[in-house]
Amino acid sequence: MKIAVLKETAAGETRCAAIPETVKKLVGLGAEVAVESGAGAGASVTDADFEAAGAKTCSRADVLKGAGIILAVTGPDPKSLDGAEKGAILIGSLDPARRREDIEAYASAGLEALAMEWMPRITRAQSMDILSSQSNLAGYKAVVEAADAYGRAFPMMMTAAGTVSPAKVFVMGVGVAGLQAIATAKRLGAQVSATDVRSATKEQILSLGAKPIFVENVAGIEGEGAGGYATEMSDEYKAAQAELVSSHIAKQDIVITTALIPGKPAPRLISDAQVASMRPGGVIVDLAADAGGNVEGTVAGENVVKHGVTIIGAVNLARSLAADASALFARNLFNFLSAFWDQEQGRPVLPDDDEIVQGIRLTQGGKIVNERLTAA
Ligand code: NAD
Repeated sequence: MKIAVLKETAAGETRCAAIPETVKKLVGLGAEVAVESGAGAGASVTDADFEAAGAKTCSRADVLKGAGIILAVTGPDPKSLDGAEKGAILIGSLDPARRREDIEAYASAGLEALAMEWMPRITRAQSMDILSSQSNLAGYKAVVEAADAYGRAFPMMMTAAGTVSPAKVFVMGVGVAGLQAIATAKRLGAQVSATDVRSATKEQILSLGAKPIFVENVAGIEGEGAGGYATEMSDEYKAAQAELVSSHIAKQDIVITTALIPGKPAPRLISDAQVASMRPGGVIVDLAADAGGNVEGTVAGENVVKHGVTIIGAVNLARSLAADASALFARNLFNFLSAFWDQEQGRPVLPDDDEIVQGIRLTQGGKIVNERLTAA
């Protein structure tokens, strides 16, 4: 089985779908690995590093030739896959909801496309979960960006010239990114509070030494919610949340928002009036910018200043930590491949009735087969 690793071509993409460690492990499974020349450059991995790990490095046409598996970070332009074998498995973050035409083109080319971001949130799949691995890094980087844009220090400092007060950081949405943001802000010495609609997060917030801020008079989501995800909340809950947040946010220096609802635009958590209530010099990092934003006035990919408050429309922050993001992403791909690898056949076997396969398989036999796409 030959495995091709593509060099990413999307604007701003720095990551690579393999690192020398995963190349070695794939070779250990009995695969032959071909990496497109320069694929690791953005993540500080040279062609020589890949070759030392047992891969060949060559042109796109040569890596695709005879490959049964194609690994990518973002979904490649279907035209750039000319020469790929019919039946080859294409694995990556393929963004199926927004790239419908490209997914159709993968089907027409006879590729079996697997979208890793549609991995079900089940225990068995945790080590294959690219959303978690990349969100974790994004949560960390959001705090670093906030600290950079903030004209004051995070920790309390007692100096001969007087005391510097600690920054007050509020994290809204305590999933994978939010938890890492809380932990990072705590490490930097900030006073941290956090909120979520899922009651299960309260204990997690406390365990990180932060203060939970929760709507108490209207029921939120008990426990973890379906598959660990939030749903859209009732109007009554939204009103109670807005009131609670209004009184809290006016006292905050930094707000990190991470709230997402799968398949829906991001919930609006902060209004323009609430931004105006913060003190000038405050910073908001909106990690939901790409999904429409949690904050009124967020512009995806840009920093805007409103009422003296900097709103950072953070997009794909994991890309700015290319080496770690590539390593985690590459291990997610390896963990998936090795879990389904059949030693005797020397290739992965993907059973139709497996929950993971059903979740991520988009195309097969020339057709779109994923329910989430056929129902749309
Ligand atoms: P996410 O990115 O979908 O959302 C981020 C957070 O925003 C969530 O905690 C969500 O509850 C919260 N949120 C949504 N609407 C909100 C609102 N109106 N106000 C405040 N907060 C709001 O979430 P995620 O980071 O992907 O993680 C969600 C859950 O899934 C977590 O419990 C996580 O531990 C779990 N998880 C499980 C697995 C697994 O078992 N394989 C893998 C990853 C995550």
